[in-house]
Amino acid sequence: MTVLVTGGTGYIGSHTCVVLLENGYDVIVADDLSNSSEEALRRVERITGKTLTFYKADVCDRAALDRIFEANKIDCVIHFAGFKAVGESTQKPLEYYDNNLASTISLAKVMSEHGCKRMIFSSSATVYDGRNVPSPFSETDRTGNCTNPYGWTKFMNEQILRDWAASDPGVSVVNLRYFNPIGAHPSGLIGEDPSGIPNNLMPYISQVAVGRRDHLNIFGNDYDTPDGTGVRDYIHVMDLAEGHLKAVEYAVSHTGEEVFNLGTGTGYSVMDIVKAFEKASGIRIPYVIAERRPGDLAELYSDPVKSKKILGWEAVRGLEEMCRDTWNWQKNNPNGYEG
Ligand code: NAD
Ligand code: UDP
Repeated sequence: MTVLVTGGTGYIGSHTCVVLLENGYDVIVADDLSNSSEEALRRVERITGKTLTFYKADVCDRAALDRIFEANKIDCVIHFAGFKAVGESTQKPLEYYDNNLASTISLAKVMSEHGCKRMIFSSSATVYDGRNVPSPFSETDRTGNCTNPYGWTKFMNEQILRDWAASDPGVSVVNLRYFNPIGAHPSGLIGEDPSGIPNNLMPYISQVAVGRRDHLNIFGNDYDTPDGTGVRDYIHVMDLAEGHLKAVEYAVSHTGEEVFNLGTGTGYSVMDIVKAFEKASGIRIPYVIAERRPGDLAELYSDPVKSKKILGWEAVRGLEEMCRDTWNWQKNNPNGYEG
């Protein structure tokens, strides 16, 4: 079985490549390196002792995709490629709609032309109508009413792929709604390497720990949560990667479109994360309480039952492991892949 992984040099993609290679899949990566480094793939090969094929390609570029499908027999595609910064998406909505929608449409068209009809798509918990639906979110809960263009691109991509699956009985689409991936491969060789100032909590904390940032800003401590700080469903990136393996197996044995949450079902607050990281690293994380961040919800966590029942997958790694592995990656690679 050969799997094409778009966005495979990125954070979640690189960890998924490790799991695929370790489970005997042939892996082809297509990435334009707009938010990642090819070094991640050399590290994936070091971890697994196996090789993969890399194409530096823009997934919006149909001719480039066509060449990849001409040269390889691809059984399934995992589509991670896309822009993902929520705040930036409100500043550059057209870039986000263009890249995130054009890539999916180009990919599905080229796949159809080559008779490759299995796609796993990286969606997000942000598609849930969290302002009107309480956590835990289950797959049947209402979606839409997104708070930013990034969220809408995920919502629209799901619909595009759902319509594609409805139009052709041979198509299999698995839309995976991720909650908050953190952590790294336990080797410390690959991990999250955001460019510029991190938007997300965990990379921000780990950059404070390693001395790249002065202190953490906690966005609000007056939410209706046990300690007043925001609650999220953090999931170890290796658990998430293993969820993709299950999704590929599912796509091989089913047709149609299906949606699954990939989360743990447990919510932790910002303060919980700070304390757990301090314990794992032995380093104190200075913080100040700042204004709430616009668009943030008090709490957001998953109902993971459907994934367990149908995919046969559940997250098995706890918060301690998530913090330990994040720190192991960050302390060994204080400046990410740049050295
Ligand atoms: P990432 O930025 O590390 O990886 C995305 C990769 O896609 C990058 O390597 C980038 O270079 C590449 N890319 C972007 N546009 C491309 C294009 N047109 N052609 C080829 N390559 C392109 O992000 P990640 O955290 O690994 O996220 C992977 C996917 O999961 C994204 O679609 C993201 O929206 C989604 N997701 C991420 C999170 C999260 O918290 N990290 C949560 C929910 C969903
Ligand atoms: N957060 C914070 N400081 C930061 C980044 C995030 O307090 O520098 C909080 C944020 O308000 C939310 C939680 O941490 O309650 C997770 O935020 P993140 O951006 O990582 O994920 P998302 O908001 O997309 O779930």
